[in-house]
Amino acid sequence: MTTAASLPETSSPLYDRVVEMGGHYAGVEPDTEWFAEVKRLAVLRNATILAHNYEVPAIQDVADFVGDSLALSRIAAEVTTDTIVFCGVHFMAETAKILSPEKTVLIPDQRAGCSLADSIKAVELAEWKAEHPGAAVVSYVNTTAEIKALTDICCTSSNAVEVVESIPADREILFLPDQFLGAHVKRVTGRQNLHIWAGECHVHAGINGDELAKQALDHPDAELYVHPECGCATSALYLAGEGAVPPERVKILSTGGMLDAARATGAKEVLVATEIGMLHQLRRAAPSVDFRAVNDRASCRYMKMITPAALLRCLVEGRDEVFVDDDMAAAGRVAVERMIGIGQPGGGE
Ligand code: SF4
Repeated sequence: MTTAASLPETSSPLYDRVVEMGGHYAGVEPDTEWFAEVKRLAVLRNATILAHNYEVPAIQDVADFVGDSLALSRIAAEVTTDTIVFCGVHFMAETAKILSPEKTVLIPDQRAGCSLADSIKAVELAEWKAEHPGAAVVSYVNTTAEIKALTDICCTSSNAVEVVESIPADREILFLPDQFLGAHVKRVTGRQNLHIWAGECHVHAGINGDELAKQALDHPDAELYVHPECGCATSALYLAGEGAVPPERVKILSTGGMLDAARATGAKEVLVATEIGMLHQLRRAAPSVDFRAVNDRASCRYMKMITPAALLRCLVEGRDEVFVDDDMAAAGRVAVERMIGIGQPGGGE
């Protein structure tokens, strides 16, 4: 599969094994030879490898840094290498490019999208804004660059409440794209002039309240870590409010917040309601705690498109490169930087 884009020195004996299969790159096992090849090629390309918490364990283990989307974008801006390999989904690599326009940002497979980011298009947001002239647009960081460019302030799940509270009480707010995070913010702030876009992530929406209630019953001593994007976040708060689960056992946390809580917990068992890739980092952070998925089928197929074969191909070929139009990047950067200045933004998804 040698191409013109690959440099002679970035060829690899493993490269001929890379095949396209079922819409993703396959054919390479994440063994010690692969690990060494990835490290060698990254040095040759002067590249830093970043991996999101939802990636498969081998990708997390070979990366230079693992984290959530915003934390990784900040690291991308700080490292001295001129190339960033972002093992995550496309909007995350775009955010890194927005914050580091001078760097080359590569994603191992540009087809790795996000059902939440795709749940609103720029034309739909423009129409929604026209229906609510003067409204402030607050977008969760899981959005494309073109949506960020039409946004007043981005937010993470950690600071969404503070971002909304930073806007004058009499100003309408358009909150997008996640309806569960929007409902959580509306409940906490009591804000009636907050309009919520009906978007959702197929993975988080699939973790429902019934499953959570059953797991909570089966594991009466376990703590519950719930991501606010999950379909069960509302149920978790309801269960706590009803006394079905002691409120102190329910923690609504961003992915970064989950790692902090894991390091500090005295619990022996923790039920985790988010994408299952998160379990790898939680187990590394607190090896003595038994972390269990509320739904072990909650796996993001987009994140899992960043396969060992895809990463090898990326380093050999120098692809897929992420581009963001200069004006769009400048507008999006304003919305992201406003977000960073409010409350504790944490790290996004
Ligand atoms: S888990 Fe959901 S929100 Fe996260 S990248 Fe996958 S589709 Fe998008």
